[in-house]
Amino acid sequence: MSKSFDIVIVGSGIAGLSTLLYLSETDLFKQGKLSVCLIAKGSLNETNTNWAQGGIAAVNAIGDNFDKHIKDTFNAGAYINKNAIVEKVVKAAPGLMNDLIQWGAHFDKNNKGQYDLAKEGGHSDARIWHKEDQTGKEIQEALLQNIFLLPNVHIQEQACVININQLSNHFFEIHVFEKNTQTFSNIISKKLVLATGGVGMIYDKTTNQQIATGDGIYLANQLGANIENLSFIQFHPTGLYEKGQTSFLISEALRGAGAVLRNEQGEPFMIKYDERKELAPRDIVSRAIVSEIALQSKPYVYLDATQIETHILDTHFPSIKMACKDRLGIDIGKDFIPVVPVQHYSCGGVKVNEYGETTIAGLFAIGEIASTGLHGANRLASNSLLEAIAFAKFSIPKLIDQLNPFIFEATNVEIPLFKSLDRSHIQSLLQKQAGIVKSNDGLENALNQLNKIKNNSEFNNVFNLIDFENTCLLEAAILLIKNALSQTSNKGVFYNIDLV
Ligand SMILES: Cc1cc2nc3c(=O)[nH]c(=O)nc-3n(C[C@H](O)[C@H](O)[C@H](O)COP(=O)(O)OP(=O)(O)OC[C@H]3O[C@@H](n4cnc5c(N)ncnc54)[C@H](O)[C@@H]3O)c2cc1C
Repeated sequence: MSKSFDIVIVGSGIAGLSTLLYLSETDLFKQGKLSVCLIAKGSLNETNTNWAQGGIAAVNAIGDNFDKHIKDTFNAGAYINKNAIVEKVVKAAPGLMNDLIQWGAHFDKNNKGQYDLAKEGGHSDARIWHKEDQTGKEIQEALLQNIFLLPNVHIQEQACVININQLSNHFFEIHVFEKNTQTFSNIISKKLVLATGGVGMIYDKTTNQQIATGDGIYLANQLGANIENLSFIQFHPTGLYEKGQTSFLISEALRGAGAVLRNEQGEPFMIKYDERKELAPRDIVSRAIVSEIALQSKPYVYLDATQIETHILDTHFPSIKMACKDRLGIDIGKDFIPVVPVQHYSCGGVKVNEYGETTIAGLFAIGEIASTGLHGANRLASNSLLEAIAFAKFSIPKLIDQLNPFIFEATNVEIPLFKSLDRSHIQSLLQKQAGIVKSNDGLENALNQLNKIKNNSEFNNVFNLIDFENTCLLEAAILLIKNALSQTSNKGVFYNIDLV
């Protein structure tokens, strides 16, 4: 027998958890008339949210204003952002910060007791709310503490959504693989929120966590939802240069505090590329680093934080300081940090409207999975946590609207099988041909090879979670490359040497 809920939310990052908390504030929920289920494929704090460092952008300080935040967002996004969305999100931001504070998240204050707002790349004013360099962890923990107190909510971790059908009455039949018991179950829901995060794992080097295998993109695509601008991938200029796929992020805030990029000769180079130097938008800084690396023998450049006062490093950047010490044995107060651009954020995704609704009735996409129009061709730093919580709130009226009575159709739990695929082959193709600098030949070549991998691989005769995730990776990679080939000009993070 299938379980059934009015609303199912897939994902336990800021997008999924804040959607649940906003739902819990509705009269329907308070009257016990709304059943909600939240599913996560790992433990609840295995999310990218938990690793966000720099913070969340919202106007607060005297001297700053909405127009400046709006202008900065457009500037970063190469002016293809959606006007109404940028305005709506930026103007909602102070209220959303209030919600986070009400839910128990703490943000750093200065010695006058005022919020200590930071300035990051692309921002014309200090408007980044942070908790040391572990803002995401602070938010994740605050949200989690609240959801555990909620009645009428079913929370299921270690449960991976592997297939979704839409029934003729528009309800969703969601197939779940439960990792602990290695069993399959079915859930029926009237409305479905995909809050499954990004696609970082399709690249060789990323700041994203292992969960970021593009599952939501694959599942939404299977349902026929529109997906747009998937090739607008933001590379973070300063991933720590180290072994392995997941690269520790050296936050933009360190550059905001005065850290300088230097080439292998120790020369500062950003002034050659942009007058905003280290605080130019990320795409500009990333391409500058790629250019410098091409001119030198070392495969990385340095970030020099040695001139930042020790007490600032200790109080604002404790986790970066510790990670550099633990991973590479360097003291950031004395040594240069080796850094390289790495995949970081997906600006495009499942196309949604101002309420987070996709092009499929009853299906919502919120958080990094979504393409809302806020970011345009490049996300302004710290606008993504903001976007996730903003659309969680905006979605509520539509989510609780028209929740028709359950009419069950016969459903069956079929165990889907997936092909065995070579993940590292897919990742190295994407890294090489769909990285910071692309070309038509490279993209065509990658598409051919990805199609070969898809067509020449055999179905595994038993279900295996890795096969499912690799299928998501492959399908998301194909969509990404096709989208890259459809671009007609360079803008924001998108750069193809064959276009202008
Ligand atoms: C290192 C790092 C630093 C960052 N710093 C900042 C910052 O300072 N400011 C900022 O604004 N942004 C930052 N970002 C980006 C921001 O953290 C993310 O965009 C945001 O947290 C995404 O939230 P989300 O809720 O959409 O997804 P996530 O937080 O990634 O959560 C995804 C959830 O979906 C679940 N899931 C996925 N697939 C399935 C499936 N098939 N079945 C069931 N569950 C599934 C996962 O288990 C997880 O619970 C950073 C990102 C990284 C990686």
